[in-house]
Amino acid sequence: MKTMMFMGLVLGAFVIASCASSGNPLVQPDIEGVFAYRVGQIEVFMLVEAERDGNTGILIGADQELLSRYIPTDGFKHTANAFLVKTNGQNILIDAGTGAGGIIVDKIKRLGVEPEQVNAVLITHLHGDHFGGLQRDGAAIFPNAKIYLAASELEFFTQTNVNQGAVAALAAYENNVVTFTPDEPGTSLTEIFTGIYPIAAFGHTPGHTLYLIQNQNDRLLIIGDLLHVALVQFAHPEISATFDVDPVEAAVIRRQILEYAAQNKIPLGGMHIVYPGIGTVETEGEGLKFTPVK
Ligand SMILES: [Zn+2]
Repeated sequence: MKTMMFMGLVLGAFVIASCASSGNPLVQPDIEGVFAYRVGQIEVFMLVEAERDGNTGILIGADQELLSRYIPTDGFKHTANAFLVKTNGQNILIDAGTGAGGIIVDKIKRLGVEPEQVNAVLITHLHGDHFGGLQRDGAAIFPNAKIYLAASELEFFTQTNVNQGAVAALAAYENNVVTFTPDEPGTSLTEIFTGIYPIAAFGHTPGHTLYLIQNQNDRLLIIGDLLHVALVQFAHPEISATFDVDPVEAAVIRRQILEYAAQNKIPLGGMHIVYPGIGTVETEGEGLKFTPVK
């Protein structure tokens, strides 16, 4: 393990600029389940790994009356996404999906990036739909990549509440696992790659980390598993999911981050937000309203 050195940057000093749907579309690649988005000079590709029927049974304390206001009678889709970020000549993945079917690898290849050309994988947290794509049969899928994750996440899933899958995934990268302590939202942020800043959002897991992408006057916040059922949890950030290790803490940070993004007009990208997986958020009533980019 290595510990990182960094330079601080004050989030509050960022120039606040609206960059939502209007200014940032890239030419869309003709690849199903891939959405291209530009953050200044940085190219971001949302990669859908899998889409299936959604399940509101994971929402804690959401009764039928509430659900009926948000969930269409014919159901809704749940997705699992990862993101590819091209910044300053580096190819960086944020999460690696489950690995099923080699879908994420296939998508990055079609975007011109071979697995050997991935320089880093930034992990939001150590659940299988986020790290599963790191290794197969003990071999690293991205053999030249360093794996970045919060120290508290590594400790929890490799020592406190051991997840053998996570242990195996990290073991495949041996000394190329880098831990860091993500900064609290609203404080001085540390840049780990050009234009990429980890932010602590503990609750879903003890080291759950968001990644702010910032370049020129544009920003995009990758929110990992800050929420799982967008149709309900944007409007009701107080509702957590059974997957949240600490549902109370998860609800507090969910509202804090979503309100911060709304106030500062920071678009969001999520691992469980259906295609295009990226959108803007604004306050509405007691909650938030999410609008996908076009
Ligand atoms: Zn997840």
